Amino acid sequence: MPSTATMQIEHSYSELPATLFELCAPTPVAAPSWLAFNHQLAAELGFDPALAETAAGLQVLSGNQLPAWTKSLAQAYSGHQFGQLSPRLGDGRALLLAEIIDHNQQRRDIQLKGSGPTPYSRRGDGRSALGPVIREYLVSEAMHALGVPTSRALAAVITGENVYREHLKSGGILTRVAASHIRIGTFQFASMQPDHTAIKRLADYVINRHYPACAESDQPYLALLNSVIQAQASLVAHWMSLGFIHGVMNTDNMSVSGETIDYGPCAFIDHYDPTTVFSSIDQQGRYAYRNQPMIAQWNLARLAETLLPLLAEAEADAVVIATAALNAFPEFYYQAWQQRMSAKLGLPSTAAAKLLAEQLLELMAANKVDFTLCFRSLAFAVHDAFDPQGPAALFTDQQGWRVWAAQWQQHLTGDVVEIRQQMNASNPYFIPRNHQIELIIQQVTEHGDLTLFQQFARDLATPFSETDDNQRWAEPAPASEMPYRTFCGT
Ligand code: AMP
Ligand code: MG
Repeated sequence: MPSTATMQIEHSYSELPATLFELCAPTPVAAPSWLAFNHQLAAELGFDPALAETAAGLQVLSGNQLPAWTKSLAQAYSGHQFGQLSPRLGDGRALLLAEIIDHNQQRRDIQLKGSGPTPYSRRGDGRSALGPVIREYLVSEAMHALGVPTSRALAAVITGENVYREHLKSGGILTRVAASHIRIGTFQFASMQPDHTAIKRLADYVINRHYPACAESDQPYLALLNSVIQAQASLVAHWMSLGFIHGVMNTDNMSVSGETIDYGPCAFIDHYDPTTVFSSIDQQGRYAYRNQPMIAQWNLARLAETLLPLLAEAEADAVVIATAALNAFPEFYYQAWQQRMSAKLGLPSTAAAKLLAEQLLELMAANKVDFTLCFRSLAFAVHDAFDPQGPAALFTDQQGWRVWAAQWQQHLTGDVVEIRQQMNASNPYFIPRNHQIELIIQQVTEHGDLTLFQQFARDLATPFSETDDNQRWAEPAPASEMPYRTFCGT
């Protein structure tokens, strides 16, 4: 058995009411091999070095042989999927192995995704295709490097087995690390249990684990609701400022910790169009780019409903309290958005900067301008709106650009070098471009060639600086590749 000397392991989730999870073992796979191991994250976690990209580690992270420090369980949750309530979802293909206390004394879940059927699988096979594992590995790690709160990827394994989706595909297992996997849907599930203490115990657990300051409040459960509202407002504003579309903002895919989780058909906007939807399963465009803040608020209302019994004795009073809390969401959101967008423009956070950002976005939409390229090149236009390295050439409406840029320049004050540095720290040089992710997936799944995957996994760590290696990742997609679609392909 591998040593656990370096690992601080706990299993606090398994002390919650038994209705909230099922103990369950992974199903072994035929011939596992490594796709990736994240040594840096492993070090941060204090993960056992004996398991880091070793044969022993492969047995553990493929689910073939679980050591004694694991206590694998599937978590129960409900979820509003595209607006419809499914009372019983739960981890149908994921298992929590353990909680690890990392070097910063933070508790983090170690979870296998794609590890075989669980009591919550319904008709699913409990597996993941390799393509979505690759996407989640790269995009979640890129999001982290971009500064966005997110689940992380510790490892990815190729199972050596096929899964049947539209046709046969290689299978994969992701080892996911998250502050927790407690979702709005977890609260929905708990609130529907005959055991009326379940919701309170879950809420107390989440306060203790994620928002300990709430315990000091006169109204800890209202403080909890407010904290989740603020965390989600700030998260979604961050997404919006980078052109990120989650793709499936069902209540079971929204973590109460405020991290981005459950990367499915997610993607970054190429040319700016606020109505963009990438997911082939989102036919109504419910989770379009521009709807994300509103959907977050809708999801938070579902969370608030579950907390009503804890907010006041009389339900009518609880509804008033919850409604007031939810009504503060837009204010938190716009504050966070204004801050992010102002920084992207090299300006202090003011209403004037917010207006300039809105006007620029309008102009970008009208001119179908690439989101990431435009913001990144803006730093070159601080002095000269028509600097050849600036965004001027991206706009067909040259007059519109001229007028906007002149107004923007009037608001810029201070040292030019500092302004540019600030802008470059908010406007990534590259993001995981959809066509690149597709190419990487194709290289791995069709040709067994990991080269491109490994290059991107290495380069994604520094998205805000241009280097000799990362220039190709900044190239926009050829026009022929639009419009891009992601398939849930799970
Ligand atoms: P997702 O769309 O990945 O967020 O998953 C929604 C629900 O379906 C969750 O309860 C998943 O655990 C479950 N699910 C997704 N794919 C599978 C699968 N291949 N086998 C079993 N359950 C699955
Ligand atoms: Mg999910």
